[in-house]
Amino acid sequence: MKILVLNCGSSSVKYQLFDMEEEKVLARGLVERIGLARGVLTHRPAGKEKMVQESEIPDHQKAIRLVLDALIHPEFGVLKKFQEIDGIGHRAVHGGTLSSSLLVDEKTKEVIKELEVLAPLHNGPSLRGIEACEKILPGIPQVAVFDTAFHQSMPDYAYTYSLPYEICQKHKIRRYGFHGTSHKYVAQRAAALMKRPLEELKIITCHLGNGSSITAVKEGKSIDTSMGFTPLAGLTMGTRCGDIDPAIVTFLMMKEDYSPAEVDELLNRKSGVLGVSGLSSDFRDLEKAIDEGNDRARLAWDVFVYTVKKFIGAYAAALNGLDALVFTAGLGENSPRVRADICRDMDYLGLRIDPAKNEVHGQEKEISSPDSSVHVFVIPTNEELMIARDTRAIVDSLRLHSV
Ligand code: AMP
Repeated sequence: MKILVLNCGSSSVKYQLFDMEEEKVLARGLVERIGLARGVLTHRPAGKEKMVQESEIPDHQKAIRLVLDALIHPEFGVLKKFQEIDGIGHRAVHGGTLSSSLLVDEKTKEVIKELEVLAPLHNGPSLRGIEACEKILPGIPQVAVFDTAFHQSMPDYAYTYSLPYEICQKHKIRRYGFHGTSHKYVAQRAAALMKRPLEELKIITCHLGNGSSITAVKEGKSIDTSMGFTPLAGLTMGTRCGDIDPAIVTFLMMKEDYSPAEVDELLNRKSGVLGVSGLSSDFRDLEKAIDEGNDRARLAWDVFVYTVKKFIGAYAAALNGLDALVFTAGLGENSPRVRADICRDMDYLGLRIDPAKNEVHGQEKEISSPDSSVHVFVIPTNEELMIARDTRAIVDSLRLHSV
């Protein structure tokens, strides 16, 4: 079975085509600069040269058309015809209180559209991707996979904000959590690496990238996570502020005469380690600047590391113990320095990493020392594979029902 996974952003489409018999990637690629003067498709078929095409790409429909053409390209293609695709899985990000992936029909599209107000940068483009596929590939089942779904197992006291209950009910204000597909994947992998059932384990998963979040996973279920109503909450991030005193928002609106849109921009795009360092949102730039003696870069780094350490402590308490700590995503997978700083002085958990093992980049590996009471892993995330698996399961069940 061949499954195409699409991750549509506001100006980009990332894709991977899987052969699900062996869960093998046949091709992957990226369309960038949709709607700008000149768009670019970079197509990477497995075992062949990459193909780069520049052209005008006004919308998602054109972008997906280009992806499909690349997949059947006589030289760089991996399929003979589109009809070989059995299903399309979409990363849909915000699914509200839905706890599983859904076959795309009118009702599912309605749900994604309704929640666009809570995730405008993600749900809108996903919907455009879905509608483009309906036009170009009618009859091929599509599945929406939500970043929020894994976290819907949180108990009510973990997802409820201490605001007036009726207001929260009216506006659906609660903790939803994000990066769920990634947290679920790495928790499953950690259990597999430990050769123990996930249902017995207490795991903290740290998805540290441009956007960062931490999740407490008990018996395979998310019981708490650092992102909240929106992906702005929790950890200090590249450009997002994470948790701050909410009174700062009204204070700034009064003192600086900021509009809601200006505050939103400040908190989402000008804060985080970029805001503190005044230098960059990229942790590689921070590392370099710290080594050159830049104290603001050092401060931004320390603020980030400290917030991660605090969440790990909080979640170890929520879990009443800890079997494994997992690092994933761009920073978590690739920065030995950030992992070493986060794991320093964790004697209260009996957690120790091995400095030599920690020198790993983007590779699945246990990095804890043999005397550590907690297993520490680096596990590259694979959200696309999770989306492909859910899509396959739903396509399989459709076929079963149509027999
Ligand atoms: P992601 O959002 O998961 O793609 O992660 C992107 C972020 O990971 C970048 O902005 C960097 O801050 C960080 N990152 C990626 N590679 C490295 C590296 N080798 N060392 C330190 N940070 C890295």
